[in-house]
Amino acid sequence: MQPFIYTGHPARVIFGVGTTARLSAEVEKLGIEKALVLTTPPQKEQGEALVELLGARSAGLFAEATMHTPVNVTERAIEAYHRSGATGVVSIGGGSTIGLGKAIALRTDCPQVVLPTSYAGSEMTTIIGQTEEGRKTTRKTQKVLPETVIYDVNYTLTLPPVMTVTSGMNAIAHAVEALYAEEANPVLSLMAEDGIAKMVAALGQVQERPQDVDARADVLYGAWLCAICLGSGGVALHHKLCHVLGGSFNLPHAETHTVVLPHALAYNAPAVPNAIAALRRATGSDTPAAALFDVAQSGGAPTSLRDLGMPEDGIERAVQITLENPYFNPRPLEADALKATLSAAWAGDRPNA
Ligand code: NAD
Repeated sequence: MQPFIYTGHPARVIFGVGTTARLSAEVEKLGIEKALVLTTPPQKEQGEALVELLGARSAGLFAEATMHTPVNVTERAIEAYHRSGATGVVSIGGGSTIGLGKAIALRTDCPQVVLPTSYAGSEMTTIIGQTEEGRKTTRKTQKVLPETVIYDVNYTLTLPPVMTVTSGMNAIAHAVEALYAEEANPVLSLMAEDGIAKMVAALGQVQERPQDVDARADVLYGAWLCAICLGSGGVALHHKLCHVLGGSFNLPHAETHTVVLPHALAYNAPAVPNAIAALRRATGSDTPAAALFDVAQSGGAPTSLRDLGMPEDGIERAVQITLENPYFNPRPLEADALKATLSAAWAGDRPNA
């Protein structure tokens, strides 16, 4: 066996259906006297329900979380946090809301209880991205890792069908890259393979029966495993491309992951035979990149960068930016091959790998 390094992040995880009922007990367990509940405007009602559930342990609701954690929103939230006398936060939502909770924790060291409602996976990472004057910066610090995560399958029942697939593909991408990143190790590979297998199988079932609690539970469990892969593993070409495309052309996060993943995987496939073997088992297909493309397409998700609004003449620029900052990738980055990969992703071609 090859030597390896595995870094596990400490977090308490409560998983199941109706687990939100444990919220007050978990808040108390962390010694939080009053918690400020965070969410986005569309999820305000879910936030209000938690305020009610917390009763005397609630410090009110801040429902202004938004994409990319803008610093001005964080500043308003910090003001609300101090004004309310809160000593901790409860974040209910996707990566945007969880990002706001992390931004508050970064500045106050407060404990966080997180109830994820999408599959993006931020709750298992020490990564915080923030935007100021249009510039997004990302850093890693243990300070932002949530102490307690309550996965309640019930919240995912309201995820719209297409968002279920795009958010699911976002999760799968974390596990795919964990299989071949520089930090790859046998423990994460176990989680990655099982996470992908659970998600691929259950996403199909959820498309047919969105209210199937067992299938939804499998997707959420798979998403948790994939989130651990992001938190404890590494990334490569796929995440780099998504970062470049999102930043340069203002493309939506989960949709960009959905479109790019099959193509980034096809690019790396010749260089990562062990990862491909694991992905063949997980997808039940000899061509796992094509199988992932099919998951997106059959779920009605976008499959081309063109559909996301990227201009065709942006391909050249994206290749250039990608090559400017070298980083680990199992297959060396070559301009022509990268251009072909991005052109296929732009056009929405089904990869043959
Ligand atoms: P999001 O949090 O922006 O959610 C998109 C929209 O869907 C929001 O309006 C949200 O309120 C709504 N929504 C979420 N769950 C819902 C549900 N169950 N039912 C109905 N509506 C729901 O999107 P996301 O994809 O979860 O997160 C993307 C953001 O998270 C990006 O900014 C990304 O950079 C960040 N992110 C960070 C990390 C990290 O480790 N720091 C990891 C992954 C993603």
